[in-house]
Amino acid sequence: MVLSNPQIVDCHVHFGDVEDADLILSIMRDAGFKRMNLLSIISPVRVNFNPEDMYMKAAYPDLFYIFGGLDYSSTLLGLGKAEPSLTEQVDTLIKIGFDGVKMVEGKPIARKLLGKPFDSDFYKEYFEHLEALQFPLLFHVNDPEEFWDPEKIPEWAKQRNWYYDETYPTKEALYTEVENVLENCPKLKVIFAHFYFLSGDLERASSLLDNYKNVHLDITPGSEMYYDFSDKREEWRDFFIRYQDRILYGTDINNGMTLEQAVNHANRIRRFLETEDPIRWGTYPGRREPLIGLKLPDHVTRKIYFENFERIVGEKPRPLDLEEAIKECERLAGLVSKLRVKEEFKALSWMRPKVENPAEHVANLLRKMK
Ligand SMILES: [Zn+2]
Repeated sequence: MVLSNPQIVDCHVHFGDVEDADLILSIMRDAGFKRMNLLSIISPVRVNFNPEDMYMKAAYPDLFYIFGGLDYSSTLLGLGKAEPSLTEQVDTLIKIGFDGVKMVEGKPIARKLLGKPFDSDFYKEYFEHLEALQFPLLFHVNDPEEFWDPEKIPEWAKQRNWYYDETYPTKEALYTEVENVLENCPKLKVIFAHFYFLSGDLERASSLLDNYKNVHLDITPGSEMYYDFSDKREEWRDFFIRYQDRILYGTDINNGMTLEQAVNHANRIRRFLETEDPIRWGTYPGRREPLIGLKLPDHVTRKIYFENFERIVGEKPRPLDLEEAIKECERLAGLVSKLRVKEEFKALSWMRPKVENPAEHVANLLRKMK
């Protein structure tokens, strides 16, 4: 079956190496995307991926939205509080031309590394600031339930050190922290990544969206969610139609994938939304295959593909201030050498840099664009 040809903004892409710019552009072309939203994540070895994302916006200003990561270097170095403060960091991101903030901090391994509850004073003013400015946040909280269960965790997740024993916060504890944040900041403009890992609990997903009108969910796999959707296909199809203004298309495409892998991945999600084709997913042995797609109406998929994103974040990417971007890369370059890598958090060091100091490398590239 041939897929429709709508405009698509992929709200959830990771980019970690300026050498791979052409790959990302090819993926965008072959997947038929209009734009991508690049999400920077924190990293104990390089602070975050903001330099790479700024580079893409500088080079292709109309193609990329960018959501910046925070700087926890002072916390990781044992100073306790964030320096600069998290609210100052938000102001800097806005000044540079970021379109939102990305937090992967609610992934259990990241939450354990940082040790700062989301409903504690460490984050209080920061979330209030985001709410007051209505600056969008894309927030990864939790992980698939199976990752806490030694019997059920899939092998690929175990290999990435994503098995959570009792030294990690529980799924429920993380929900409580984040829901306390929403109680305090009910208008926070937030997109929860990976459906907030609620695809096993339709009632809870509904009440979350009913209670907080600025909460949205992206359907970036977590492929467990597609098995869940398919298992209760009729109920979930009704859910998607009912909450059509609150759901966003995302893929987790990143520069570690080949062009073919990325395009197949993007199309498989679309086939699930647009058709009722049987689809073999193959990531959770023992779960029911093939999956059966939702075959949503066109006006619903249009919202999921780009209309919701453009309403929440903006019709076009914000302009980048090149001088401010260079200044921030230089600041980050100075921090990288100070960071010690803790062995047990290696699993958090996604996309290890090919150059010694990636922020310095990007600063040099940006200077040449002046
Ligand atoms: Zn992601």
